[in-house]
Amino acid sequence: MTASPDQAPPSTGRRSAGPIALRIERLLHLMEPHLVKLQVLMLVLFLIVLLAPLMLGDKAVGSSGPFADIGAISSLLLWGVWLPLVLVTAVLAGRAWCGLLCPMGAASEWMSRIGLQRPTPNWLKWSGLPLASFLVVSVLNEATGADDNPLALAILFGSLFFAAITVGFLFGRNKRAWCRHACPVGLTLGMSARLSAVTLQPKTPRPDGERYSEKTVCPTMIDLKRKTESRHCLVCAKCVAPQARGGLSVAFRRLGSEIRAVASANPSLVEVLFLFSAIGIATGVMLEDLPGAEEWIMGVLGLGDGLFATAAYFAIVTAATVAVLSATAVLAALGMAAARPGRRWQAWFYRFGYAIAPLSLAALIFCMCAVAFEALAALGVPAGAILAIKGVILLAALAWCSSLVRGTPAPRARAGADPALLGGD
Ligand code: SF4
Repeated sequence: MTASPDQAPPSTGRRSAGPIALRIERLLHLMEPHLVKLQVLMLVLFLIVLLAPLMLGDKAVGSSGPFADIGAISSLLLWGVWLPLVLVTAVLAGRAWCGLLCPMGAASEWMSRIGLQRPTPNWLKWSGLPLASFLVVSVLNEATGADDNPLALAILFGSLFFAAITVGFLFGRNKRAWCRHACPVGLTLGMSARLSAVTLQPKTPRPDGERYSEKTVCPTMIDLKRKTESRHCLVCAKCVAPQARGGLSVAFRRLGSEIRAVASANPSLVEVLFLFSAIGIATGVMLEDLPGAEEWIMGVLGLGDGLFATAAYFAIVTAATVAVLSATAVLAALGMAAARPGRRWQAWFYRFGYAIAPLSLAALIFCMCAVAFEALAALGVPAGAILAIKGVILLAALAWCSSLVRGTPAPRARAGADPALLGGD
């Protein structure tokens, strides 16, 4: 998509490669041929964590708490260790987890080497698919209680694994169509990558903006010379060659700089809707656990006991999502009204919509990493200390949101529709 002249001024914040970036680049280049061994190891660990609780039942290991039995340990490893690590590393170093370690993405790519290698169909490229995938998995997780039910957990993750390898078998050659188009955590990690301090940038860039291409070594179909965004880059290092004149190089940038300059990096309505719904889902999960909250909502909705949990959950999620959406719309309207006539609604909406990204990620950490907080409590960490940790995360996220709003250039007026602001995939 081509950046319009009025979108050009915001800087993506990239800095020229220094000695540390060069060292990282060389390390990535050295590691790349051996990554497959690491990925096989991760696949074996993943299968053990998923299947051990089913095969060994609730075999006791300890007396109580997160190490009481195999199922509890498995749940802790997946929800308490794996997810927090993935989220934290994504904010620091983009989607490096996906490209270097994720067993599902790696298996999908392996299948694409031996599979049918068909071109990616348009239905798979539908820009709403990652959001739909995220919402479906979130609802299934909540409805089945997968975070503390080993069978539900195995079915959920097993189904995702099967879907990933099926997509890999059918579509692309040495590609990860699953990671680019359908992974349920793709939007979460893509937004974290947009916020992150590390990126890969073309050494000899072409100026006409990010493009999709299946004729590239990039497994997520990025036309490498036109790469301007981080959300689809898995940091897999296939394009990194420190001695070559071409390819991509590692660069450091200010945290959040891609969000500040998002007008020139394919803003997407799907991403903004994801940020709203992430806050809605996290609010739903947290409020559902509050004593008496479900009863009160059921009373308001006038529903019977059978529909209780599901209806209450959907009501909270919808209400919270609409509340964030409305607040952003009001801010955008105020921003537009305060500006000179001719300033554009969409640009203001995206400016405030993207600025809530840190808050959305904090909400997802509270929601997805609930098991980690429970484990801390079971290990004897006082409730006050856990609350303080959550408070610090929340305050840091709010401060970051505020800095993103203040640091983002005000949208400029331009005649006619601007396709870049209608959203990329
Ligand atoms: S841009 Fe380079 S590092 Fe990123 S996913 Fe594509 S090939 Fe891998």
